[in-house]
Amino acid sequence: MTNVVWLFIDSLRKDIFDSTETLMKKEIFEKGINLTNCFSQGGWTYPSFGSFITGKYPTSNGMTILDLKSKNKEKTKWPWSDSRLPRLKGKTIFDILSKKNFKLLTICHPILGEDYDYEGWNRIKENELSIADILDWIGKNKDNNFFLFIRTDITHASKWPGFKESKYEEVTDLVKKGIKDDVKKFKKLMISCLKKIDDGFFSPLFKKLNEIGLVKDTIFIINADHGDTLGEALLRTNNIHKGDYQVLHTTCFDEVIKVPCAIRYDKKIQKRNIALMTRLIDILPTILCLIELEKEYTGDGKNLLKEEDLNSITYSYGESSNSVYLRNYSEKLIFYPKEKKVLLFDLKEDPLENKPLNDINLQKKMFGILDKEVFKGKFKIDSLKLIDEEIIKNRLRNLGYTD
Ligand SMILES: [Zn+2]
Repeated sequence: MTNVVWLFIDSLRKDIFDSTETLMKKEIFEKGINLTNCFSQGGWTYPSFGSFITGKYPTSNGMTILDLKSKNKEKTKWPWSDSRLPRLKGKTIFDILSKKNFKLLTICHPILGEDYDYEGWNRIKENELSIADILDWIGKNKDNNFFLFIRTDITHASKWPGFKESKYEEVTDLVKKGIKDDVKKFKKLMISCLKKIDDGFFSPLFKKLNEIGLVKDTIFIINADHGDTLGEALLRTNNIHKGDYQVLHTTCFDEVIKVPCAIRYDKKIQKRNIALMTRLIDILPTILCLIELEKEYTGDGKNLLKEEDLNSITYSYGESSNSVYLRNYSEKLIFYPKEKKVLLFDLKEDPLENKPLNDINLQKKMFGILDKEVFKGKFKIDSLKLIDEEIIKNRLRNLGYTD
């Protein structure tokens, strides 16, 4: 018997998770495989969620910003501000496991569930189904294979206690002014939201599975879809990056796209930290292998349990609302398709991505990989422009981030 329990924590920053003591860190991240260098395929929820439930890059599963102007007129029903989003293509983990007779319970915000009509798919907010109901459901299904998927967005800034949407602008202003106490205040809020999830959801859930003896039969997955920035990103983009959430996410900088992620399954996985580069699209092929359904998988991800597959991951690709990124171990290119501009970083020299490079050869090399492996010749390199590094350097200098 195998169960899958997947906890997806929206907008959880990796540094906040790593520095906070939680039961989920102790029980899942320290007793399973902890992916310490894992990258999301989206700086915001849709491309990221679409990627990890299909195990495919946005360019393969249809949730790509690069096709927004395509002739495909089929629109999503999702009530999202950007109604141009295309539909998700390909099999999801929900498709695969519900066909294999897993009992399904999902607790998901409605905007992510509109297209699904599986039995057990709940288009509800987490506060509409209590943890007591979830524990009751587990008790009733303990003799079946089950798949429990919970998305919680308590950590999302718009859900912070006392936080209003309009405060996104306030954060921008605060960070522009460099008021460090306020950044500290937002960090404290992020930590208290994480603790709420740990105490209110994870702890009772884990305790219940332990009580009925199901921990060893359960594959646990915990991940974020992306992080948030506390203003760092705005400083770097020379106002090119104008998303709906310009400050808090939808960028391709590491505080947004590097995410916490771990998988525990005592029957088949030894505890281990994986520091090699990994991606959220690698979760699906890995768990399908654990339940011997690997033949169902046809995506872009790799099986994290196979050494040769793990070593073959040399770069990660992902998208935000108006840019895409290619990151390998030493460099990163962020490309803004609309403006045809790029930001380039040497991650070994400049891990905080504060000093963009004016290096045409490196730009060509990185863009060549994107073009060959991801874009399939969609953009012409000759038309690309580097974002003016002097303006960005001056901005960082004025704000006291560099000398
Ligand atoms: Zn999200």
